[in-house]
Amino acid sequence: MAGRNFLFVPGPTNVPDRVTRAMMVAMEDHRSPIFPELTRACLSALKPVFKTTSAVPILFPSSGTGCWEAAMTNCLNAGDKVLASRFGQFSHLWIDMCTRLGFEVEVLETPWGEGAPLDRYLASLSADKQHKIKAVLVCQNETATGVTSDVAAVRQAMNSVKHPALLFADSVSALASIDFRMDEWGVDVCVSGSQKGLMLPAGMGVTCVSQKALEAAKSATSKRCYFDYGDMVTSNATGYFPYTPSLPMLYGLRESLAMIAEEGLENVFHRHTYLAAGVRAAVIEGWKLKLCATAPKWHSDTVSAIMVPEGINGAEVIARAFKRYNLALGAGLSQVAGKLFRIGHMGDLNELMLLGAIAGAEMAMLDVGVKIEPGSGVAAAQKYWRNHAAGAKSGSAA
Ligand code: PLP
Repeated sequence: MAGRNFLFVPGPTNVPDRVTRAMMVAMEDHRSPIFPELTRACLSALKPVFKTTSAVPILFPSSGTGCWEAAMTNCLNAGDKVLASRFGQFSHLWIDMCTRLGFEVEVLETPWGEGAPLDRYLASLSADKQHKIKAVLVCQNETATGVTSDVAAVRQAMNSVKHPALLFADSVSALASIDFRMDEWGVDVCVSGSQKGLMLPAGMGVTCVSQKALEAAKSATSKRCYFDYGDMVTSNATGYFPYTPSLPMLYGLRESLAMIAEEGLENVFHRHTYLAAGVRAAVIEGWKLKLCATAPKWHSDTVSAIMVPEGINGAEVIARAFKRYNLALGAGLSQVAGKLFRIGHMGDLNELMLLGAIAGAEMAMLDVGVKIEPGSGVAAAQKYWRNHAAGAKSGSAA
């Protein structure tokens, strides 16, 4: 098909040309005397992205899922109890992994479209007088439903009852797009991946581990080997890896972190908020459709999950967009399959790219019989963006 493919799934996201070029390198010796410069550049530039001075960033040759597994198997003893909430496919998959790894999970079942139920976290933690819960899990941004949760408030709930459990946060579709604060929020393990806000191909698990979690890892009895924090931290301290790292991914990461630093992390967050608000204007004011997120406090600035009207199959919208307009939209997963489609607005993008996605979604919806006004989404997004400041947080519209 002529023209570019419009990639608007909520990960993998568009890789900037600058990052692609940085990744086009000849292979080199990963044990050479100069290799530590690359390792150290990546690991030190990641610290401000996690907003940490004391925790340790770790890169695994995996995706985000590998970092979930690493968090569980490094920090916990076999069979330990953890507390988690389920409100979408990704919070579900993490819970499923915990069960399959043999951990006992207290699950806070929550309607899909809502976020982490803070009062119920608090109730479970305060009822746990014997401190059987060893880790509290929270998904900061549920990509399946477009819902963002308040990780800081989960930490406050833990602190308010002086609960000593570790706090694990999934920031796979939030890191480097929505604010995340490792130190301030007292997060012990943050789990993320390369293919979302970090604007890289999939294939690198990006995680960050607090000193408290590293200490727990020293005596934790769960079995692990390839994903062992200790091996990684010991090797990284000398500038190397315990096994052969992916050179292009490291060069790409160094470049993407440079781009984030140049734009300014707070400006990156602001751009995501501003672009997301335009997409929401298209959905709510233009198309008169509903988001899966049931209240504005849950609205995600990286992905919008858009409910299709009764009688329409969301999968048909997605198939039409792909086959006719070369536009990739995100699918409805599991419980919400067929009920919605998703527009990812994360990573390297701007207004005009998103207008393409909104126009394509609009045409595909019209083609499969959704009763919306042609042009209404595009017009509503334009109106929002023209009336609001783009660019730097303190700046005005250019
Ligand atoms: N957590 C969230 C919130 C996600 O969106 C994803 C993937 O989209 C994952 C975890 C799993 O990450 P990966 O596919 O990189 O293994």
